[in-house]
Amino acid sequence: MKSLANQLITWHAKSGRHHLPWQKSKDPYAVWVSEIMLQQTQVATVIDYYQRFMKKFPTIKALANADEEEVMRLWSGLGYYRRARFLHEGAQMIMHDMQGIFPSDFEMMMKIPGIGRSTAGAIAAFSFNQRKAILDGNVKRIFARYFLITEWTGLPNIEKKLWAYAESLLPKKAIAIYTQALMDLGATVCNKKPLCPLCPLKKTCVAFLKNKVHAVPLPRPKKNIPTQSIYMVIIKNYEEVLLEKRPHQGIWGGLWSLPQYENKTINTGNWVKKKFGFDAVMIKKNLHITTTFTHFKLNITYSILETKSQRSTQPYTWIPLEDLEGAALPAVIRKILLKLK
Ligand code: SF4
Repeated sequence: MKSLANQLITWHAKSGRHHLPWQKSKDPYAVWVSEIMLQQTQVATVIDYYQRFMKKFPTIKALANADEEEVMRLWSGLGYYRRARFLHEGAQMIMHDMQGIFPSDFEMMMKIPGIGRSTAGAIAAFSFNQRKAILDGNVKRIFARYFLITEWTGLPNIEKKLWAYAESLLPKKAIAIYTQALMDLGATVCNKKPLCPLCPLKKTCVAFLKNKVHAVPLPRPKKNIPTQSIYMVIIKNYEEVLLEKRPHQGIWGGLWSLPQYENKTINTGNWVKKKFGFDAVMIKKNLHITTTFTHFKLNITYSILETKSQRSTQPYTWIPLEDLEGAALPAVIRKILLKLK
């Protein structure tokens, strides 16, 4: 019987994806951008963002020289903004420390912000034809089923085992096609609702043979995560809203957000007067929304106020409501603000 890699390579010729925009190029910069965009986002969503991003920043140099605001703006709506900041910082690092050339050395690649072992593996395979493994969420799911792994794949010892499988399965030739085939199988066949009858691996997949496909992979074990509360204000002025540029450290680093205060017992109107030096009239008080991060839940209480003033000081600025669509905002703040329109 053919090896797993060869079965996938054969399957890919007929059933894989061959026309994704980033497949046109072996340029490691293009592969890097696509891999970072694809980390938490579906292909269908990424395509437009990728094309706009590469048109605006066609080279590492263009991205390195770009204004951070512009990079964030082009990322707006794609979420997980840390990825955009890492790309920007990474381009600057390559210009300053690597003579402007994307490194072909695997260890060097992993020095670039945001590039972990799996992303480096994909770039090494696609751009430099190196026999390196990938282990993203899709591949973990395939291996968890194929080898019937009945523990959560995020556990360190299980991850180690999965990397060992990933390394041992690498073909001697056609590494780029094999890597793409693995990604395509995870996205189109062995996905959340697996289409096993169409799968090239069904004759040897342990979960399929034992009728356990839907039992694996196991979900992340639930744990109680702490809740934090913050208090925010929407201050409107005619058709503008006052936003704050968040510091780089902490949640929503580098994004635009609402002015925030710590103490729930505070009189909001007085706080606005003291903080910004103008009067504002309360329109709606104590609205609530909750958002969940990996390690905590965030309860946001916010009020809407209106002012006639146009005063602002750094890091606050007035942004027209009609520009909010394209602004780099956290998803939950976008949701709150778009309701205003
Ligand atoms: S047979 Fe089914 S579960 Fe096994 S690898 Fe293929 S699609 Fe996934």
